[in-house]
Amino acid sequence: MAIRIDGKVVSLAVKERVKQQILENGDTPCLAVIIVGDDPASRVYVNNKKKACTETAIRSLEYALPPETTQDELLELIDKLNADHEVNGILCQLPLPKHIDETAVIERIAPDKDVDCFSNRNIGKLWTGTKVFEPCTPAGMIELLKYYNIDCDGKHCVIVGRSNIVGKPMAALMLEQGATVTICHSHTRNLSEITRQADILVAAVGKEHFFSADMIKDGAVVLDVGINRGEDGKLHGDVDFAAVEPKVSAITPVPGGCGPMTIAILMQNTLTAYRLQNQ
Ligand code: NDP
Repeated sequence: MAIRIDGKVVSLAVKERVKQQILENGDTPCLAVIIVGDDPASRVYVNNKKKACTETAIRSLEYALPPETTQDELLELIDKLNADHEVNGILCQLPLPKHIDETAVIERIAPDKDVDCFSNRNIGKLWTGTKVFEPCTPAGMIELLKYYNIDCDGKHCVIVGRSNIVGKPMAALMLEQGATVTICHSHTRNLSEITRQADILVAAVGKEHFFSADMIKDGAVVLDVGINRGEDGKLHGDVDFAAVEPKVSAITPVPGGCGPMTIAILMQNTLTAYRLQNQ
């Protein structure tokens, strides 16, 4: 019987840990969240981040800017927040309106306030073993594995997806844990042959039910990052959960698996930022 890896339970534990650390030390971390425009999904994410701040005793500031905000105006706000000693973390909700260059915005955030860990500098530090922050979604998955005592050391971890926010940084973290890592993508030949070798499979493609049971080894651990809105209006992962669950040793459901972890790690990173800036 497969373990259902419960991201709700683990994310609550992470947030509780962050809150306890803050209260015990009398820390006063503050996260500034910027949202440009009125994308409904972005609004939900921003609200969830503010709620998590409240739950963890982190102060949050919201900057809701109109869709016509220029890149220069946004960069000016980031400069102001970079210089503000009361603000420890800065997050700009993506995607941004098309007229704004996301890379320019990410790179403008001071590296020690880049709590999403998206900037070139922080990603470079991740790969060279000198990291300050860990990218939230991949670090959330490592936290899930640790909570369930699933060791990556010596395992063959196959990651399908090579995005800058999920696949690539997940490879860095798994490598750091002693795994042998294979990254697959849309040009990978004989994908099933490779995924069937995975002791731990990370599914990060963004296609509903892409992974069928015959692509997964018996007893594997499956982390499903995918969030896909199905025709039934519900959220589905990349993995055909009903077919795959009976043959694996542990698996994350969607929703309630990897998803809740991202924001919990964001809170942890905000506390890390505060401590670094107040040493
Ligand atoms: P991207 O669209 O940036 O990347 C998708 C990756 O899947 C690409 O590397 C692409 O390959 C690869 N891919 C696409 N089709 C195939 C195929 N047929 N065979 C093999 N590989 C393929 O997505 P993200 O990494 O941003 O997100 C992935 C999923 O995770 C999405 O569903 C997203 O919603 C979800 N997500 C969830 C988060 C959370 O839980 N908190 C956070 C972030 C994302 P190529 O590079 O060659 O195009």
